[in-house]
Amino acid sequence: MSSTTPDLDDVFAYVDAHRREFIDRLVDYVRRPSISAHGQGIAEVADYIAGVMNRIGLNARVVPTAGWPMVLAERLDRPGAPTVLLYGHYDVQPPDPLEEWVSPPFEPTVRNGRLYARGVGDNKGQHLAQMLGLESLLACRGELPCNVKLLLEGEEEIGSPQMPAFVREHRDDVMADLVITSDGPVDESGRSRVLFGVRGVASFELRARGASRDLHSGNWGGVAPNPIWTLVQLLATMKNARGEVTIEGFYDNVLPLTGLEQAALEKLPVDVEAVKRSLDLAELDEPVERGFFERLSAWPTFTINGLHGGYGGPGSKTVLPHEAVAKCDIRLVEAQTGEEIFQKVEAHVRRHAPGVAVIRQGSMDPSKTPLDSPYAAPIRRAVAAVQGEEPLVVPALGGSLPDYVFTKLLGIPAFGVPYANADESNHAPNENLELDRFINGIKTGAAMISELGAMGGR
Ligand SMILES: [Zn+2]
Repeated sequence: MSSTTPDLDDVFAYVDAHRREFIDRLVDYVRRPSISAHGQGIAEVADYIAGVMNRIGLNARVVPTAGWPMVLAERLDRPGAPTVLLYGHYDVQPPDPLEEWVSPPFEPTVRNGRLYARGVGDNKGQHLAQMLGLESLLACRGELPCNVKLLLEGEEEIGSPQMPAFVREHRDDVMADLVITSDGPVDESGRSRVLFGVRGVASFELRARGASRDLHSGNWGGVAPNPIWTLVQLLATMKNARGEVTIEGFYDNVLPLTGLEQAALEKLPVDVEAVKRSLDLAELDEPVERGFFERLSAWPTFTINGLHGGYGGPGSKTVLPHEAVAKCDIRLVEAQTGEEIFQKVEAHVRRHAPGVAVIRQGSMDPSKTPLDSPYAAPIRRAVAAVQGEEPLVVPALGGSLPDYVFTKLLGIPAFGVPYANADESNHAPNENLELDRFINGIKTGAAMISELGAMGGR
C-alpha cells in the first residue's frame, strides 16, 4: 500500500480554471425545488441529477422505491482498487418561513462570497462537489483512480424511511469497501473535520391513565390516583440526580472509548466557559466531571422532551387530571440498539408502573467506524492536502444519521467529510454555502478518490 500523496496540481488547476462554470452548474441545480416533505419537484430533480451524472460518465439510473426514488450510479474503472460509495441526498427541507429569506430560496443569489439558496449546503452543493471532483479527474486523467458508486436518496430530510430496505434489496449495487458522506458543516472554528460515527436515537411516549375523566381535586383528591404523580415517580426511577440512567441494563452494551478515540476527543476545540455563558448556565449537566465532547460522543442520554397533563393556564384550577404523557428520547451510543433499549424501557416500566403504557415512536441505531480503519489515513491526507491543515477527528456526532445502514447492514466503514461553512443555516432561512468551500470540496473529493486509488489492490 502506497502512502505517497498523489500529485494533483493539474487537477486542482483544472478546478480553478472552471470555477465560474462549476458555480453556474451549482446555481442551475439549486434553483430546482425538490421538497421531500410534500414531493414538489422530486421526480424532476431525480431525473435532472441522474442526467448530470450520465454526462460526467457515471452510468446513472433512477430507481423507484415505495417512497421517493433513489439515484444510483457507478463507474468501475479499476479492478482490484478500492470501491468507494458516495452517499448524499437530492431532497431539501421546505423553505418556510419565506418572508425571512433575504433573496427567495429558489432564486440562487451570491452575496459576500456565498451562494444563498435552499439546499445549497444541505446537501446539493456538497454532493455536486463530489461529482465535479470526479469530472475533473476524468477530464485530466481519462479514468478514475479507484472504483466509485454514488447513491443519492430523496427522503433524507424526512428520516430516510426507505434506506434500510433499499440497501438490503440492492446490496450488490451499493456494496463498496467504504462509504463517504459529505453533509453538514465543518467545525465551528472553521477547521475541517472527519466524522467516524453518530449517536442513535429511540423515541417513545409514556402514557399514564387515572380516572375516566378529569375530577375536582377537593371532591376526589385522596380517592382517585393522579396520573401525573404516577409518571413523575416512574421517571424518578429511570434517572438519578447524579445523571446516571437507572433503567436496568441500560449501559450493558455501551462500548468504552478506545485510546485513539479518547485522544481525538481531547483535541477537539471547545471553550466550555463560553458555552455556559452563551446558554446562561451556571453548570453543565451531571455528571459534572465529564468532558464536553465525551458527553456528546461516548454516553447515551435520557431526555424528557415534554411532560403533559392537567392544567397549565393562568391562575389556578383545582383539577385532578385523568391522563398524563411524557415524550422521551434516548440517544444511543455504540453498541446499543433501538430494539434492545425499547425492550429494557418496557421491562423497567412493567416492574415499576405496570399501568403505564410505553408507545414506541421509532429508532435509528448508532454507528461507529474505528479511527484506525485503513481508509482513515488516506481520507485525512486528502482533506489536509486541500485545506492546508490536519482535519479534526470526531469519533461520533451527538446527533443521529442513518449511517448504521452502511456500517451494520453492509458492514463497511462510514466516513463523514463535511464541506459546508459552520453557519450554513441548513433547515433555516438564508441557507448558504461559501463558494471557496464549494471549490475546495471539489478538490477534496478528487483528492480522496486519488488517495484511495493510491492504496492499490487490497
Ligand atoms: Zn438536512
